[in-house]
Amino acid sequence: MQLYNKLSGKERAALIEKAGKDRLTLSFYQYAKITNPQEFRDQLFIIWNQLDVLGRIYIATEGINAQLSLPADRFDEFKKHLDSINFLKGIRLNIAIEQDNMSFLKLKVKVRHKIVADGLNDDTFDVTNKGIHVGAGTFNELIEDENTVLVDMRNHYESEIGHFKNAVTPDVDTFRESLDIIEEDLKEHKEDKNLVMYCTGGIRCEKASAYFKHKGFKNVYQLEGGIIEYTRQVNDKGLENKFIGNNFVFDDRRAEKISDDVIAQCHQCGSPFDVHTNCANDACHLLFIQCDACKEEMNNCCSTNCKEIHALPYEKQKTLRKGQGNSNDIFKKGRADYLPYKKDLRNIFETLKVEKK
Ligand SMILES: [Zn+2]
Ligand SMILES: [Zn+2]
Repeated sequence: MQLYNKLSGKERAALIEKAGKDRLTLSFYQYAKITNPQEFRDQLFIIWNQLDVLGRIYIATEGINAQLSLPADRFDEFKKHLDSINFLKGIRLNIAIEQDNMSFLKLKVKVRHKIVADGLNDDTFDVTNKGIHVGAGTFNELIEDENTVLVDMRNHYESEIGHFKNAVTPDVDTFRESLDIIEEDLKEHKEDKNLVMYCTGGIRCEKASAYFKHKGFKNVYQLEGGIIEYTRQVNDKGLENKFIGNNFVFDDRRAEKISDDVIAQCHQCGSPFDVHTNCANDACHLLFIQCDACKEEMNNCCSTNCKEIHALPYEKQKTLRKGQGNSNDIFKKGRADYLPYKKDLRNIFETLKVEKK
């Protein structure tokens, strides 16, 4: 029985092309007690592989976090399968705003210690004591309130290309890092301000809101279903869209356009641009913003050094790489000093207009 992905991305792309069918990209998560994650994982893989599901799915004893695509005409079967699982019955699915048949090219179902690498020790606080979930309408009202501090719970490369108006966008590489910075910067306002937070699909706020309540924040709110669900509600209900720019997504689409504003710039030439790319040099893979003109000139590389390496025969590149891990793509997303137009994100105090003591 097949339990793991066997096709390469290229082979899969060819199959999707040949099938000529529309695919749906969607995501969902659920915190639930899963006693045997490995067994659950294997069952999911077998059924979803038959349904031609592709994507990245994490399973842990604390629940499931899934980002995937599937043929649109198999959606009903897929939904039926979800509904047959106790803790996934009727689950909200975040359907992607911009569809792309090639958003995922492999089915990867992985058992992990946690479904989000949040760096938190869950035993130290009550994870079920969460912030109040709000939909798009209430969220719009809340963030206009002068007593509200709106915080983006995502990383710097995500908020750089798009965020809510007036949001504080911590200049962080990791979720864990942002928690401490926000707590420290807002410590005077634990009781008098509304702490309103959002992320891509809502999952990061589930833990963050509980963590901040544990730290003494009294009025904690989180955007239900994140930016993806917000956009759906705004479109459905004809509400004002207060999100500017692109929503960064973790699949091959890279971003979804939420508003026509382009708030970022090419890291190499500074012209307005807001879609990320990975440096084509296999030893680098730096995540950065590169406009089409620079892409052509630099052969999709982040530096002349990478461009030269990328132009070498593959075997030669491999010899050069020996013994050097490629760490850029993990820890230094878009933070190379030689990129002249990578912008520093706004300081939390600037947004709050509070004097730092
Ligand atoms: Zn450029
Ligand atoms: Zn590079």
